[in-house]
Amino acid sequence: MTLTAGVIAVQGDVSEHVAALERSATACGVDLTVQRVRTAGTVPSCDMLVLPGGESTTISDLLVTEKIASEIVGHVEAGNPLLATCAGLIVVSRDPRDERVHTLDCLDISVDRNAFGRQRDSFEAPLPIRGLERPFPAVFIRAPLIDSVGPSVEVLAAWEDRPVAVRSGSVVATSFHPELTHDSRLHELALFEQFS
Ligand code: GLN
Repeated sequence: MTLTAGVIAVQGDVSEHVAALERSATACGVDLTVQRVRTAGTVPSCDMLVLPGGESTTISDLLVTEKIASEIVGHVEAGNPLLATCAGLIVVSRDPRDERVHTLDCLDISVDRNAFGRQRDSFEAPLPIRGLERPFPAVFIRAPLIDSVGPSVEVLAAWEDRPVAVRSGSVVATSFHPELTHDSRLHELALFEQFS
């Protein structure tokens, strides 16, 4: 099977996600083409999308300016998989509790943008995740905290009783950075299950 993945590349850690997608595709036996998305027009031809971390205010501004925001919403509305990590989680949320972030509003959560960052700037922890047999090495960097989740949202993982990985329909979002380890199981769970 040949699939196309898009990594939104307006800002943030793009190349790590590209590498993680390639590892996942190999693990799943899928022939994958990965596109870096910087302008409008590419998203409609993508079977799956990644919205990386970075700075949510900057990312959300650029998505609107480049007219990619509405294309991502269309991708999700059509039921296609999207993995949003860290700042990406903030950008897809319903309520970022910060008016400088223009969210895509495709995940019914409210977030506190730098909640973990205020306590501990970055840390790594083995994290049990629903759907994965062994704990996942989760890297948190100035991570957002999910304050509340709507009824449609399934919590896949929690850290100190706070949701840090969630799923709703075809959207999976994490407070941490799954692309910063060599473990590609989270990308497989979020993006490839639909095609296996
Ligand atoms: N807290 C950052 C923000 O608000 C996100 C940090 C990250 O993506 N590593 O955008």
